[in-house]
Amino acid sequence: RLRQGLSRSRESFVGQLNAAVAEFKDAEDEEFWERVEEILITSDVGVPTTAKLVAELEQEALERNITSGRVLRELMIEHAVRILDKPVELDISHKPTVLLMVGVNGTGKTTNIGKLVSFLPGKTMLAAGDTFRAAAIEQLQSWGERTGAAVVARERGADSAAVAHDAVEAAKAEGADVLLIDTAGRLHTKMNLMAELDKVKRVIERQLPGAPHEVLLTVDATTGQNGLRQAKLFHEVAGVTGIILTKLDGTAKGGIALAIANEVGVPIKMISVGEQIGDLHPFEAREFAQALFG
Ligand code: GDP
Repeated sequence: RLRQGLSRSRESFVGQLNAAVAEFKDAEDEEFWERVEEILITSDVGVPTTAKLVAELEQEALERNITSGRVLRELMIEHAVRILDKPVELDISHKPTVLLMVGVNGTGKTTNIGKLVSFLPGKTMLAAGDTFRAAAIEQLQSWGERTGAAVVARERGADSAAVAHDAVEAAKAEGADVLLIDTAGRLHTKMNLMAELDKVKRVIERQLPGAPHEVLLTVDATTGQNGLRQAKLFHEVAGVTGIILTKLDGTAKGGIALAIANEVGVPIKMISVGEQIGDLHPFEAREFAQALFG
């Protein structure tokens, strides 16, 4: 799916890069590097990460006197892996482990909470902390029915922190292994977002010192550089520990993964390539880089 998505149009990143690399003969050809830079930037890799990647590639290609496109492509994959390869294991060693899910509305936060349940060992509970978006509570309840996870909820419009409070208490009382807490993805102002997430985190920590054990951010890969800005903002206000990159089935780019890994420094822990339960996968740097570079 990932490969299919990334190569689905001839104008795709993969297609353009393949065409450029097929003509590569000489590492001293400045026009070639400019062309690669252009392709990377239009594929959401962003300016700083593109500059770093191309400078490293060019230097190594010159030093090793590389003249083959095939060898250069392998080198590109190696350099991308170096940027992408960070620990991806979820920290679920606590009892209960609390995972806080954050992200802008529509990025796939609630759906991916549902999909995550099947990855988690033992007894999982869900908390319907997105009390703002219409239908978010019902959506989570329906994932609870599908996966067998108990759902803690209050009415729409209730205080998100109060839901988190109830949920941590319930998880402790009922011996849950993992508690996944949804949050509202309103992004009107940075101050608001910060106040809201701060409050939720403080309430959780008061109920269970050391929690939340992970703060997972959903980023919609189809939103390109916007996704990068969101990742920076949420990391600043909420201390993100891992990213779930969603909707990779819907983009012919995918370079956003390199930009996030390099510029935000937070590991991409999972990727989502569709709406169904089996469409969430642990992130694998090499597999991703290979799909990205054809
Ligand atoms: P939230 O507002 O962040 O909680 O977003 P939702 O979980 O409601 O997801 C918004 C929409 O995106 C829903 O229709 C999901 O089914 C869809 N969605 C989530 N992840 C993916 C994905 O990886 N691929 C595709 N194609 N759709 C997705």
